[in-house]
Amino acid sequence: MRKGLDILLVNSFAPRHRIVSDASLENSLALIRTHLQQKGFSAHVVDEQRITSVEKGVPRWILHALRMLSHWLVETSNAGHRLTSLLFLLFAWPLQALSLYYRRLYMNKLMDTIVSLVKDDSIPMVGIKLWYGDAYKWSLALAAKLKAQCPGTVVIAGGPHVKVFGEHVLETQAFDLAIMGPGEEILAQLLSLRQKISDKQTFLDLVQSSLGQTRLIRTGQFNLSDHSLWGPIPHYNADDLRDKMLFHTLVDGIGCSWNKCNFCSHTRQHVTYTPRPVEEIHSEIVEMTRQGIGFFRFSSSETPAAHGSAIAKMLLDQGMNINYSMFVRAGQVSPEIYDAFRLMIRSGLRAVFMGGETAHDLINSSVMNKGVTRREIMETIQCIKLAAADTGIPCRVGLSMIYPCPILPGVTLDDVFQANIKLIEETMPDAVIVNPPGLFPGTFWFDHAERFGFKIGPAFITSMMEYEYSNYKPVELWPALDYSLNEQNLANMLKETGKLRRAIEDLGIPMGVSDELLMMLDAVGLQSKADRMLFRKHSLIDIMSGTSSYITKITSQINDCSRRLAYSNHSNRIKK
Ligand code: SF4
Repeated sequence: MRKGLDILLVNSFAPRHRIVSDASLENSLALIRTHLQQKGFSAHVVDEQRITSVEKGVPRWILHALRMLSHWLVETSNAGHRLTSLLFLLFAWPLQALSLYYRRLYMNKLMDTIVSLVKDDSIPMVGIKLWYGDAYKWSLALAAKLKAQCPGTVVIAGGPHVKVFGEHVLETQAFDLAIMGPGEEILAQLLSLRQKISDKQTFLDLVQSSLGQTRLIRTGQFNLSDHSLWGPIPHYNADDLRDKMLFHTLVDGIGCSWNKCNFCSHTRQHVTYTPRPVEEIHSEIVEMTRQGIGFFRFSSSETPAAHGSAIAKMLLDQGMNINYSMFVRAGQVSPEIYDAFRLMIRSGLRAVFMGGETAHDLINSSVMNKGVTRREIMETIQCIKLAAADTGIPCRVGLSMIYPCPILPGVTLDDVFQANIKLIEETMPDAVIVNPPGLFPGTFWFDHAERFGFKIGPAFITSMMEYEYSNYKPVELWPALDYSLNEQNLANMLKETGKLRRAIEDLGIPMGVSDELLMMLDAVGLQSKADRMLFRKHSLIDIMSGTSSYITKITSQINDCSRRLAYSNHSNRIKK
């Protein structure tokens, strides 16, 4: 790390991976660093979220023992031997605690190293990207240490956790400021001001008075008057690419065209769907392929067919060879939509993820306000499958659901369960994610919790911010949280969630495999249902044991494939 830094950007991290693609390329911090460097500031990124880093600090014998026990736990649980799997769980328990103890020692040591660097180099500003759960707790501890030992340093929070929890991240006083939305432009402005005002308190007073006495800065889609939606093209350096999964999260647009679902924290955005200009998307894809990256995941909550088609046309016209995945919204299927999917698949679309939430129409409209019907979900999935069959190129479909959920008079939870299973049986998606109902501040569910049957405990938001879970793990292993739905506490809700998950897995559909993974697994030849179930089993063993040998092996194949795809674009085939 070089001396004389203006800002240190730190990615927070948890002791364990939560999903396989946790160690994806850190696009937003690379983008901020690129922007700040273009403006003449010196910035450095500290990112410990790497594929093999989960093993750091833990003695080998613990990792070996945990891996073996997790293997037997998963095998016996899959075979339905509940008592035996419980035994393995009991044996694994103390080892898990010991392994987490060593991981936390390691994380604390890294925290001390960061604090020493900031102190020794008198770095005036530190930005921390906040994630949920244990990663958030680590951020709080880091911010507190920085405050105590580097009193002149301004500590700023940003990232996904601030987008979801907004002003609540400032309740602890750990952070001086928080940025809700894109950070690159505002950080450049803050750094310019900081260079002029050396006293930290005077600087903060000035910032706060200009913001209207709040320490939360809303930018981009969270600020009605800020139209700076697109940042520069991020540049990844060699360290950014080390021990990472080589897919790039590409900003193809912002928001979703519906933006009204009762449970969705995206509804806090002031901007509805805004597509990014296709020329900018082209430039970014060309640059990424030059950097050896051929897999892309589009970032917006929805890529509408019209914008997807425009991107696909550009890719085909330019003769580009990439694979990409994206989120789609179900809707009325027409010949135009079918043609759009055929075009997108021909241009490299290999997987989509779709929010279904529930297949019960009354619940979907009155409880979720999803704006789609069961029939539309079914027809959109069939349309994508038919388009893939017609082009002769696979395009995988993932579906997410919320279960259990609030219900209405005359509808039972079992009605919802049966409707969900029927939809899955009729559409057979390639992967499904089922989550219990989450309550996020600023959503309609949160603001009208009692109307939907929720009861929220007094410390709910604080515990929700620190709630550590892995979508990948059996929900029965998730910890408790202080809220209930129709008098059912979280433990009971999770039992229901687990019931639906198991019923879906019994159909041979893996749980929790994301769109970008569906795309990359296909590319490395893991294309059958059985392949995906095996992938899910082995990666779960890695995640449960805090090891990385299987994920490392798969990532190596994925990265070879990503590089091959990327370099195939540079044999004079891309038109300038
Ligand atoms: S859940 Fe999806 S469709 Fe609904 S508002 Fe959120 S992003 Fe939009």
